[in-house]
Amino acid sequence: MKKIQMVDLNGQYQEIKGQVNASIAEILETSAFINGPEVHAFQKELEAYLGVKHVIPCANGTDALQIAMMGLGLKPGDEVITADFTFAATVEVIALLQLTPVLVDVDKETFNIDIEAIKKAITPRTKAIVPVHLFGQCADMDAIMALAKAHDLYVIEDNAQAIGATYSSKDGQKYMAGSLGHVGATSFFPSKNLGCYGDGGAIFTNDSDLAHIIRGMVNHGMYERYHHDVVGVNSRLDSIQAAVLRAKLPKLDAYCDARRTAAKKYSGAFQGQAHIIVPVTVNGCKGICDTCDCHVFHQYTLRITNGKRDALVKHLQEKNIPCGVYYPIPLHRQKAYLDARYKEEDFPITNQLVQEVISLPMHTELDDEQIDYITTTVIDFVNG
Ligand SMILES: *Cc1c(COP(=O)(O)O)cnc(C)c1O
Repeated sequence: MKKIQMVDLNGQYQEIKGQVNASIAEILETSAFINGPEVHAFQKELEAYLGVKHVIPCANGTDALQIAMMGLGLKPGDEVITADFTFAATVEVIALLQLTPVLVDVDKETFNIDIEAIKKAITPRTKAIVPVHLFGQCADMDAIMALAKAHDLYVIEDNAQAIGATYSSKDGQKYMAGSLGHVGATSFFPSKNLGCYGDGGAIFTNDSDLAHIIRGMVNHGMYERYHHDVVGVNSRLDSIQAAVLRAKLPKLDAYCDARRTAAKKYSGAFQGQAHIIVPVTVNGCKGICDTCDCHVFHQYTLRITNGKRDALVKHLQEKNIPCGVYYPIPLHRQKAYLDARYKEEDFPITNQLVQEVISLPMHTELDDEQIDYITTTVIDFVNG
């Protein structure tokens, strides 16, 4: 059996090696390292793929979130509601901009931000909601957009884990994740579903005025050379990363299919297990079906309900099966984000999930032998 890896990027590289190496060699020859034609071409290709009017590439996913919030003109003291159960980048940029993060609990089935919890958290100072499409599946965007409309709030989608996922709206249309809110942000960190070979990110929006503001903001607030109209940042996607992304974007749907296939095999093997809850897909289908593309499985995350999660992590490590606990500590209990307003009873689901979740190896190169070995090892240990 091949050595099992949590994320295996080499197989993808071998497939696109010719194109990537040739593009990088050309960039080295032409020295168009920053803002070269590759970046512009990638921007156009991603706009077409996502069905959005504007993509603004930038340096990483954290910057993408920050610049999206800057572009919307959010001001110190404005409250921004986001999920307690997510990667820290989401809340970090809110705090850095001196906005007030308001963490709320998540849904037990999807791990995504809970609609009732958002409703309870809205105050006259609330200005935005940041749903995180965690592990590769959209939050309940119909409900979130309806709340935003009713309360005049912005919606900034953190799409770092769900690029390529779709969302079937109640309006009968299917949308790409990240294209439903006022603005979307994503990351091209190597291990993300569409990853480059360094850091990268992008902001997307259908709002042309906002896109214009953001284009200047990523470039020191310049709209005309050496005229600085607003305080901006320096956040660029470089040409080499854009070349890698151009080679991968046409394969993204196939990558997502490969992940779904692996997820389906995992869930099939775990079916009927009393102490193991498999991930649920809810947007557009019930359960993992063959035709559904609503979940792209950035992570395949189980809940272990008999208290053996931590012991399972150790056991898998001994059996050379990498795994991850995303995330072990709720954000509301992180030192940097402590706030007297938070009460433990407001976060029952997150507090439970941090003790139960475990993410198994997930990438496009998993084979049946590996999946069999992983699922058998998990089942034997959890029941043993
Ligand atoms: C990866 C990630 C980010 C940050 O992206 P970087 O490119 O690493 O800055 C933000 N939010 C979520 C949910 C992520 O998974």
